[in-house]
Amino acid sequence: MTKDKKEIENKKTVIDEKNKDNKDKDKGKKTIMTDLNHFNPRGHVFVVSAPSGAGKTTLCRKILKKYNFLSYSISHTTRLPRKNEKNGVDYFFITKEEFQKKIKTDFWAEWAEVHDNLYGTSIKFIEEKIKTGVSLLLDIDVQGAKQIKASIPDAITIFIMPPSFKELEKRLRSRGTDSENVIKKRLANAEKEIKEKEFYDFTIVNDDLDSAVFEFGKIIEEACL
Ligand code: ADP
Ligand code: 5GP
Repeated sequence: MTKDKKEIENKKTVIDEKNKDNKDKDKGKKTIMTDLNHFNPRGHVFVVSAPSGAGKTTLCRKILKKYNFLSYSISHTTRLPRKNEKNGVDYFFITKEEFQKKIKTDFWAEWAEVHDNLYGTSIKFIEEKIKTGVSLLLDIDVQGAKQIKASIPDAITIFIMPPSFKELEKRLRSRGTDSENVIKKRLANAEKEIKEKEFYDFTIVNDDLDSAVFEFGKIIEEACL
């Protein structure tokens, strides 16, 4: 067992001890997760990037579920919604014209063209969240991460790596959301994106999902608790 895993196990034991007298057996099973959410985080900004298909969305969803003090920054995009994607939940889906108008009115905290579509984070969205002391998770590309780091130097940047290029391709195909052309474009861009990983504060290899969630969680806990 690693030192960090041991520390978390120790914390868990303390919580289990505290719940020992509780007649409700289920309460005795409370885990470290519940305990973490009692802490008042200091409003951090976490920026996560990855080549498409590395598992960033999957990881972010698990992290948001585990740490309910984290809020997800909903981006705007000109990309068409995938099946199951909802406007205002996964993205705000807007037209290219609307997006370009917003460039002129200084609406964006950052924006970039990624895989032939425009993506951006609204300044207002970030400001309103940060004002309330909430910690934010931004799932944005390398160009956007650099813009955010320039305006928020304390932002914590994390790069998610696939275990191999072959596995990345397999995941992109098995997701079943993109056409062959889109997959080819995303794979071609992956090589360039991976070259930028040195810019990030942390790199996580998403091979085994649970281990990657654990690694990601350690970064969040170290910053917020
Ligand atoms: P991204 O947001 O980085 O483009 P997704 O989260 O959509 O990637 O993941 C791409 C595909 O890979 C999905 O089908 C997802 O279920 C799968 N996936 C994610 N993480 C893992 C993992 N650790 N092992 C195997 N498959 C994974
Ligand atoms: P997807 O189309 O697969 O949802 O996202 C494609 C890429 O766009 C991913 O690398 C994702 O992180 C990035 N992206 C999503 N939202 C934003 C954003 O607001 N700004 C920037 N710069 N990139 C984004």
